[in-house]
Amino acid sequence: MSRKKQFKAESKRLLDLMIHSIYTHKEIFLRELISNASDAIDKLYYRALSENLQDVNKEELAIELELDKENRTITIRDNGIGMDKSELEENLGTIAKSGSLAFKEKLAQEEGKSDDDVDIIGQFGVGFYSAFMVANQVEVTSKKYGETTAYRWRSNASDGYTIDEAEKDHHGTEIVLYLKDNSDEEDYDQYLSQYEIEGLIKKYSDYIRYPIRMDIEEQRKIETENEEEAENQEPQYETVVETRTLNSMVPLWKRPKKDITKEEYDEFYKAKFDDFQAPQKVIHTSVEGTVAFDALLFIPSKAPYNYYSQDYERGLQLYSRGVFIMDKAEELIPEYFRFVKGLVDSQDLSLNISREMLQHDRQLKVIASRIEKKVKSELVLMLKNDREEYEKFWNNFGLQIKFGVYNNYGMDKDKLMDLLMFYSSKEQKLVTLDEYVNRMEEGQNSIYFMSGESIDKIDKLPQCALVKEKGYEILYLVDNIDEFVMQTLGTYKEKKFKNISQGDLDLASEEEKQKLAEKAEANKSLLEALKEALGDEVKEVKISSRLVDDPVCLSTEEGLSFEMEKVLSAMPEGNPYGMKAPRILEINPSHEIFKTLQKVYENNPDSVKDYADLLLQQALLIEGFPIDDPMEFSRKVCAFMVKAGI
Ligand code: ADP
Repeated sequence: MSRKKQFKAESKRLLDLMIHSIYTHKEIFLRELISNASDAIDKLYYRALSENLQDVNKEELAIELELDKENRTITIRDNGIGMDKSELEENLGTIAKSGSLAFKEKLAQEEGKSDDDVDIIGQFGVGFYSAFMVANQVEVTSKKYGETTAYRWRSNASDGYTIDEAEKDHHGTEIVLYLKDNSDEEDYDQYLSQYEIEGLIKKYSDYIRYPIRMDIEEQRKIETENEEEAENQEPQYETVVETRTLNSMVPLWKRPKKDITKEEYDEFYKAKFDDFQAPQKVIHTSVEGTVAFDALLFIPSKAPYNYYSQDYERGLQLYSRGVFIMDKAEELIPEYFRFVKGLVDSQDLSLNISREMLQHDRQLKVIASRIEKKVKSELVLMLKNDREEYEKFWNNFGLQIKFGVYNNYGMDKDKLMDLLMFYSSKEQKLVTLDEYVNRMEEGQNSIYFMSGESIDKIDKLPQCALVKEKGYEILYLVDNIDEFVMQTLGTYKEKKFKNISQGDLDLASEEEKQKLAEKAEANKSLLEALKEALGDEVKEVKISSRLVDDPVCLSTEEGLSFEMEKVLSAMPEGNPYGMKAPRILEINPSHEIFKTLQKVYENNPDSVKDYADLLLQQALLIEGFPIDDPMEFSRKVCAFMVKAGI
């Protein structure tokens, strides 16, 4: 007997969570194990076809179930590819190899929030480990196709697992679950009932392409020859055992759309793509013509936990005439729609297609382009017909669409810009660029936007006041990528995007401009003194044309904006070129502070420096920049307070 090995730490935590029954649907263990069995047969089937293996009888490929009431076991057997010793170790000894770190972090974050635990598990795709939701001991005996030795993996979850050599004639895998004892909360015996199992197969695994067989026991009336006897006697029954195929085996995507219920789609998605929530959107399409294919696509109703990380792999499953070829074929779906899960089945693809060939396959390119158009048109329809649904989608994957606009030097921007949404100052909700442009006021030439940390904070920014006063709508940008998106787009329907903290807003009338120019001229030396006091910290101090009630603000010239500077500085490698948006300190000439400045400058020019400092610090704070020396700032404010109190 070999030594017990421990599960990797994070596997153990997940197991604990799962075993302590936080997953409400324990019954899904069956669909998970059957789905694994089917995948294993798929792999062998594919090899048999592509390598022309003579010793694999395709007709015999099947999954068998066995219920043993006496020993309280369920056996799930497949004659698929099987696993060798190291695969048993690798596949069943660790959990979610790639996602383990992300999982741990997530777990730490949500610690104590038991409601969310379900979420974690669901997002993870419980897979093989779900066996431990119903069993306290699991044995996996497997023989890899082409190998001579079989191995048995055995575990009771709590203290690791062992792997030993075992006897097994045929290649494939046999999993024996030793069911837990019944308790008040949970009836595990139900899984020993053939009717229950038949129901579960129909519900979750009907579309599995290989027969799922089980011996079905039935009481049958014994027919008697003698009719008279039959009438007088109690009917007699006998127990008949018959092996039956429990699933209909037609792949869901091959069935006519009108015959498929929402529940069937949902269950299919959940089982196949490891989600515990039904998808937000199902797109089932069949295309005839030069390249014919069926596609069954899903938009998840929640972004997977690792969606915006490196771990997430995009791609669709690829089938040829119902034969599984490969998982995650990324050529089938563009990067900006990488949230789409699903599969494509085409009779026009060669079974022998390899990953390398995918990139150059002409048929595949046609399919991919059709799929892309389909997804786009479905999203446009959703936006048009069901705003609430679309916003839900946008909250999940909007960031992805924005990245799509920004990436590839904006090559895809035209395809995606109609899908964009931003928060509107006027509507106080998300709006599209089209809606914005259609609503633009007479004489308005630009699409105004302003960035900040949150909608509330932006709404209060002094720079917004004038644009709002003019009655113009402002798009509030809160994602790091947003300004880069605006810059990539440049214009929308010939209207330029305009950052309202940059450059000249050009909103003043000729008369107002004239007045400002005069004021600037009259206060030239004051402004120069302020600039001199601030030295290199600002590029310029000027009289503002964009402030309404607030005393000061910062602006910058066209080009690098404050928001971009912040994004650059927040990059892991730091602001690469130390790029800084030049600061322009703007002072509101109609504010009391301006008169005060004039007075101070006249009576006591030396103290202008303190005023200049404080005004700049305030403007920096408003803009969300840290101030260099908070102690100094505080000291100065106090000094002013003391003076004011005298
Ligand atoms: P997933 O199926 O999501 O990859 P699982 O935990 O269910 O995760 O399974 C882990 C791996 O173990 C599978 O990817 C597969 O390689 C292997 N495996 C599981 N069940 C079988 C089986 N019946 N036959 C062959 N390999 C299997």
